Amino acid sequence: MKAVIKRKSAKGMEFVDAPVQKIGLRDVLIKVSIASICGTDVHIYDWSRWAQNRFKPPRIIGHEFVGTVTRIGEEVTHVQIGDRVSAESHLYCGNCYQCQNGYIEVCQNYKLLGVDHNGTFAEFLVLPEHVLWKNDPNIPDDFATIQEPFGNAVDTVLSEDISAKTVLILGAGPIGLFATGIAKASGASLIILSDPNDYRLNIGKKMGANITANPKKHDIVKLVLEATKNNGVDVVLEFSGSNQALNQGLKAITPGGRLSLLGIYERRVNIDLNKEVIFKKIRIYGITGRKVFSTWYKTSRFLSSGLVNVNPIITHQFPLKDYEKGMKLMRDGKCGKVILKVDGQA
Ligand code: NAD
Ligand code: ZN
Repeated sequence: MKAVIKRKSAKGMEFVDAPVQKIGLRDVLIKVSIASICGTDVHIYDWSRWAQNRFKPPRIIGHEFVGTVTRIGEEVTHVQIGDRVSAESHLYCGNCYQCQNGYIEVCQNYKLLGVDHNGTFAEFLVLPEHVLWKNDPNIPDDFATIQEPFGNAVDTVLSEDISAKTVLILGAGPIGLFATGIAKASGASLIILSDPNDYRLNIGKKMGANITANPKKHDIVKLVLEATKNNGVDVVLEFSGSNQALNQGLKAITPGGRLSLLGIYERRVNIDLNKEVIFKKIRIYGITGRKVFSTWYKTSRFLSSGLVNVNPIITHQFPLKDYEKGMKLMRDGKCGKVILKVDGQA
């Protein structure tokens, strides 16, 4: 089968012929239809500091996909050949303290698909059945592949009620853009979206942002105060991983407000905890992955009902072999979400 593999501890990847893997008793073999590129895949390609510490070649990369079950192990019980599936990318153990206390997303023993386990940038993929999600027939393949990062956005937006709230969203990458659509569909009364990338801000308008602002051209805190009668926003959602944006968010939030953090910071951040958090009585949520599987139900319903239309966010598609073109667009910030056609076009 054709696959994108990271073979060496250095910059780059290879498009190769690889053997289809054998399945165990509780595994399934999936024929991948579409995969999509995440920033993590670009980090692995570029061999960033994070990748050097975390990734052990050789490994087929990728963790977002939709595909069809083509073979099942003898002890598989809840999926059948022909089922159209996606999967939770945190391959959790089910036995640890976290798994048994409702925090599967931070399982102590989880393996990450496309990092610790061969991934989705391949014609075939082997997964244990317990991480599979059966797709709603009303969700087309182009949308089904993005459910994993969409779930990140669902948990960030909905870590508390957002209806009729005023919201500042920092970062209009694919996940910040999903969050814009989710906040709109969930009844946020005012959505202000900030990103230095005007191309992405334009997509944000289509997703329901009331005000878009480029922090290179506007004072974000001043703009938020003007738009909220000097109160500040009820909710700040952080998807940029920028220390500067985080500090703007803390200044823009109203005392008693809520801050949810998904963005990942390259270095330790510097914030004035006394002034910006404790004396303002801010509630802060750290978000990792998505809840398994309660968030998948919400994601599926947002997409299948049409409550959130992600079409404006999916800006490019390529055959799998052209994955490097997609990664270049992502590095340059000239895209929303990039998807890769695998079935029949690899
Ligand atoms: P992305 O890199 O595509 O988007 C980040 C956006 O932030 C970019 O559009 C960038 O222009 C913008 N940005 C940079 N500086 C800014 C600033 N000062 N103010 C406002 N915007 C700024 O990333 P993504 O795929 O959309 O993911 C969003 C974030 O979530 C990333 O940091 C990613 O690493 C993180 N993430 C975390 C988890 C988790 O489990 N916690 C999972 C997936 C992604
Ligand atoms: Zn576990």
